[in-house]
Amino acid sequence: MIDTHAHIYASEFDHDRDDVVRRALEQGVEKILLPNIDLESIEPMLKTEAAYPEVCRSMMGLHPCYVDGNVKQTLDVIHSWFDKHNFIAVGEIGIDLYWDKTYKAEQEMAFITQLNWAKEKKLPVVIHTRDSIEETLTLLRKEQDGSLSGVFHCFGGSVEEAKAINDLGFHLGLGGVSTFKNGGMDKVIPHLDMNYVILETDCPYLAPVPHRGKRNEPAYVSLVAQRIADLRSCPINEVTTVTNKNVNQLFLL
Ligand SMILES: [Zn+2]
Repeated sequence: MIDTHAHIYASEFDHDRDDVVRRALEQGVEKILLPNIDLESIEPMLKTEAAYPEVCRSMMGLHPCYVDGNVKQTLDVIHSWFDKHNFIAVGEIGIDLYWDKTYKAEQEMAFITQLNWAKEKKLPVVIHTRDSIEETLTLLRKEQDGSLSGVFHCFGGSVEEAKAINDLGFHLGLGGVSTFKNGGMDKVIPHLDMNYVILETDCPYLAPVPHRGKRNEPAYVSLVAQRIADLRSCPINEVTTVTNKNVNQLFLL
């Protein structure tokens, strides 16, 4: 299995990161992909990647919740990192209208700018949306010239939204929300095209059942795979085989 979205460089893991990575490997999680957030997260992310070079791979991008009035200068610094280091994706980027709409215009500008980096660098994008799937799809439709690929991470939308995302050539990242009893995903997951599904945790957030509310970690991606298998009445190895295939098509690991 591959955890395609894990913030194990966060301070929540400072006291036991070795154990967290060991438990992931014991659980059959071979790779852990690290999405960047802002300027502050770059150093701990790259240190974590360097500490576990066989397991961790970094992305580079500016998260929409960290877009503010300084967005142009921040994007310049983030962009300069692509010349200094190999990244597997532009991420995480996107639109978040849940927390704060103050910088909506700046969020859109940052998203489009980073989509263009992805075209220039021939990298996939890892997209964060919250209360913004429609806005994000509208922007993506304008920018999709056939060369963009990527994933809507932490997908918790409807079957129709999943289809709209897939029609644009984009994948769905399923995580802990898929296991929540009131998440509504039990009605959605049986109808998804599995050729567009990849697994993630988004740790330390959104721990799957039965760890809901506690710190999440990459080993728990197996609980997400098991939940998908249960909802689709298939063996778990069918889920891990197809999601691994999808990850290897999307990312150059
Ligand atoms: Zn994230």
